[in-house]
Amino acid sequence: MSSYMTLNPATGETVREFPGLDDGAVSGVLSRSESAFADWRATQAAERARHLFRIADAYDTRRDELAELISTEMGKPVKEAVGEVQLAAAIYRWYGEHGPDLLEREVLDPQGADESLVQSSAVGPLIGVMPWNYPYYQVARFVAPNLMVGNTIILKHASICAASSELMAELVHAAGVPEDAYINVFASNGQIADMIADPRVRGISLTGSERAGASVAETAGKHLKKVVLELGGSDPLIVLDDGDLERTATIAARARLSNAGQACNSPKRMIVPNDRVDEFVSVVTRAFEAARVGDPRDGSTQVGPLSSVTARDTVIEQVERAVEQGATLHTGGEAIDGEGAFMRPAVLTGVTRDMDAYSEEIFGPVAVIYGVDSADEAVALANDVGFGLSGSVWGSDIDRAQEIADRLDVGMAYVNEHGTTLPGLPFGGVKRSGFGRELGRWGMGEFVNIRLRRTS
Ligand code: NDP
Repeated sequence: MSSYMTLNPATGETVREFPGLDDGAVSGVLSRSESAFADWRATQAAERARHLFRIADAYDTRRDELAELISTEMGKPVKEAVGEVQLAAAIYRWYGEHGPDLLEREVLDPQGADESLVQSSAVGPLIGVMPWNYPYYQVARFVAPNLMVGNTIILKHASICAASSELMAELVHAAGVPEDAYINVFASNGQIADMIADPRVRGISLTGSERAGASVAETAGKHLKKVVLELGGSDPLIVLDDGDLERTATIAARARLSNAGQACNSPKRMIVPNDRVDEFVSVVTRAFEAARVGDPRDGSTQVGPLSSVTARDTVIEQVERAVEQGATLHTGGEAIDGEGAFMRPAVLTGVTRDMDAYSEEIFGPVAVIYGVDSADEAVALANDVGFGLSGSVWGSDIDRAQEIADRLDVGMAYVNEHGTTLPGLPFGGVKRSGFGRELGRWGMGEFVNIRLRRTS
């Protein structure tokens, strides 16, 4: 039986089920992708760019329908979902605008020959394994640069995002991309492993958990395939002693509640000077208690349900375990009675190195707040986890804040903002947060053949 279904996390209702891919169809998918590659790579870059513009326009035109769909599938408040659709459109448009230039030949110092140059060219069919937390944005980050390069796509979305995945394929095809240059599959993990092992597949990009990343990377490594991994994070938000505490705490609380806390780069750990930690905790606690938790389709809702009851129960269990191990719970952390995967946002302090909550990712609306005596201690604490996705530093002395941001062991360091993602900026991490980069010119450099041509 296929596990692909739309199960509304706000109501518990099963909305739709989707048939899974037959084992017998796996090889056909790969053959179709491979033959489409021969034609797609031969098109002009300007033509591929025109397709991307048309996809972007379709996201804009069908914005509300797209937003409501993911709201039903994974519980994102519809206001946030609209923002995500607009961001996905911006990503397709960015690659349409910049892609052709990025694919221009680059002339090198000839170093003894008449001419040396490099050209980035397509490598072949790629598999994208995508998560449910930002169903459109995550797919756009992978699909836009790779269609631009001339690679073909086999897309395996999260099983709870089958409906949006189907609709995205429809938009891509309606924009003129050949059916087989973008194939949506409702594949099992085993089928994905078989596809990765097949010589017709040239690379894999996965966004999701460490468990999924390790499994896919293991198969890819065995078959010598390139992988890009965008995994979890436990991102620090550091407030310096000259920071505007009230304002920063308000922004931090809002950022942590965005998408019900289910973002890889959410500020999961807030690090504050010891003499101001009580004030910071009270601002975040007040903001969490005031946040409206409820129906994601209601425009006034700030926090929707988590993606599933299981995901919600995992987060609650993490909070309970932290308290059992000695942490202090200031608010929330319990399920809301009734249907749906709702919980009250939680604030924890007193988490120490020997507790699980110190090192594990909490993928839900939970702020863990730490007090420190110095900026050095803040940096040491920030870097003392296995993850290294992003981090932010907040203060009024910009030079000092930048110097501290430069010491964070992360892929993305911010000063006086947190977690900004834009089409032209690189996105990705170090350590257990993964490797490779998405977005901007870096996202177009992952699955290309950097071909040298030297003429004497
Ligand atoms: P998963 O990592 O299980 O899901 C992400 C994607 O990977 C889905 O498409 C999933 O498919 C697929 N997948 C999972 N295992 C395999 C496998 N062995 N081979 C191929 N594909 C696989 O995320 P969960 O939904 O289980 O979330 C668990 C945790 O993952 C979260 O608590 C969070 O820590 C992290 N996460 C991080 C995200 C990020 O943005 N970096 C996004 C989502 C989750 P299917 O849905 O069919 O299982």
